[in-house]
Amino acid sequence: PWEMRQPEVNIGVVGHVDHGKTTLVQALTGIWTARHSEELKRGMTIRLGYADGNIACCENLEPPEAYTTEQTCPDGSESKLLRRVSYVDAPGHEALMATMLSGAALMDGALLVIAANEPCPQPQTLEHFVALDIIGVRNLVIVQNKIDVVSKERALENYREIKKFVKETWAENAPTIPVSALHKANIDALLQAMQEEIPTPKRDLSKPPLMYVARSFDVNKPGTKPEDLKGGVIGGSLMQGVIRVGDEIEIRPGIRVPIGSGKGRYRYEPIISEVVSLKFGNLSVKEAKPGGLLAIGTKLDPSLTKSDALIGNIVGKPGHLPPVTSHIKARYKLLQRVVGMKEMIKTKPISRGEVVVITAGTAIRVGIVRNVTSDTIEINLREPIVAWEGSRIAISRRVLGRWRLAGWGIVEE
Ligand code: GDP
Ligand code: 5GP
Repeated sequence: PWEMRQPEVNIGVVGHVDHGKTTLVQALTGIWTARHSEELKRGMTIRLGYADGNIACCENLEPPEAYTTEQTCPDGSESKLLRRVSYVDAPGHEALMATMLSGAALMDGALLVIAANEPCPQPQTLEHFVALDIIGVRNLVIVQNKIDVVSKERALENYREIKKFVKETWAENAPTIPVSALHKANIDALLQAMQEEIPTPKRDLSKPPLMYVARSFDVNKPGTKPEDLKGGVIGGSLMQGVIRVGDEIEIRPGIRVPIGSGKGRYRYEPIISEVVSLKFGNLSVKEAKPGGLLAIGTKLDPSLTKSDALIGNIVGKPGHLPPVTSHIKARYKLLQRVVGMKEMIKTKPISRGEVVVITAGTAIRVGIVRNVTSDTIEINLREPIVAWEGSRIAISRRVLGRWRLAGWGIVEE
C-alpha cells in the first residue's frame, strides 16, 4: 500500500458560486467540504474548506487514462503515488471575496472552475481570476465543468468564450479541461494537466519556519474532563522552514488585550507556546514541511484558539518573526474597472479618509487611508498585522454597498 505522507502542494479551487467547486473537490478527494452558499444563507461564518487527495499513475496504461486518485488500477495492480495534494476550496459567493483572497495566500496553483451551461465570464469568475493574478498565483488549469448538461455545440461555444476571456492575459496558455465533476468524467485528464501545469514549488527548508494561520480550533468535545482537555489547535500552511513536535513557537500579532480600563482601546500581545502534535487531516507526523494544511496542537488555552480566533496570525520561531504594524505604506495600483459585478464600472481614485479593507497573507484588516498619491498609499489599520518590505497586499473598496477587489500593493516599510 501507499506510504502516507504529508501533502506537498496546495491547489486552490476557485470560481463563480454553483459552478461546481465543492463537487470537484469531492471528485478529486472523496471529501465533501463546507457548502459555503448554504452556510451563508444560515448566517454562519464562512471559512476556507480544505481536503487532501492523491494523484497517482497506473504504469500499465497510457496517459491520460494512467492518471487516477485511487490506489487500485482497473487491472487490479497498485498505482504509483505521484503527489499528495491539499485542495483549498475558496467560497465563490460575491460577499466572501476577502475569504477567497486570504485563501489565495496559501495556493501554489489553482483550478478555475467554469460551468459550461452559463455564459463566461460570470462576475466571480472574473473577480477570482483577477485575484489570482494579484496574489501571484500563476499556475492555472481551467476546468470547464458540467459538460454532461450541455450539447456539443454549447460546449464548443463555451470553450470559445473561455479562450476569449483569457486571451492576451497571463493565463492565455493555461489548458482548459472539460469535465463532469458530478459524474467524475475526464478527471484523469484533469490530473494530468495538474501534474504538467502546477509543479510543487521549491521550498526553502533552511529558513526559520513561517506559517500563515488560516483556521484555529478548540478540538475538545463539550463535557470533556479538565484533565483530558487538549490544548488549542492552529491550522495553516507553512511557507518556509520545518516545524517539529517539541519546538517552541511564537504567534503574532497574538491576542488582543484591553489597555487600562478598556473602553475600546487594545494592544496585541505575541503568544509563545510549544508544539505538542502535528497533523495533516488524520495523519499525525513528528515533523512538517511546507505544502498541505497543517494543524499544530499547542499548550495554549483552547479558548484562545476556538472559532477561528487566530486567523490572520503568523506562526514562527520566537525572535525570528517579521514586525507587527498598524501602519502600512505601499506602492499600489488600482484596477481600471471594478470587477465582480454584472456591470463594469470605472474605478475612481482612492481618496484620503476612505475606508478600505486590505488582505495580507491570511489577515483581513479594515483601515483608513491617511495619505495617497497616484502610486503610493499609507493606511492606518484598526488592528495590526505582520507585514514586511516586499509583501503583497490586496486592496478592497466599498462600491455600491459591497467590498470589491480594487487593487494591490507592495509594502514599502
Ligand atoms: P460551488 O458553489 O462552486 O461549490 O458548487 P457545488 O459543487 O456546490 O455545485 C453546485 C451545483 O451544481 C450542485 O447542485 C451540484 O450537484 C451541481 N454540479 C456540480 N458539478 C456538476 C456537473 O459536472 N454536472 C452537473 N450536472 N451538475 C453539477
Ligand atoms: P475537528 O475539531 O474537526 O476534529 O478538528 C479540527 C482540526 O484540528 C483538524 O484539522 C484536525 O486535524 C486537527 N486536530 C484535531 N485534533 C488534533 C490534535 O490532537 N493535534 C493536532 N495537531 N491537530 C488536531
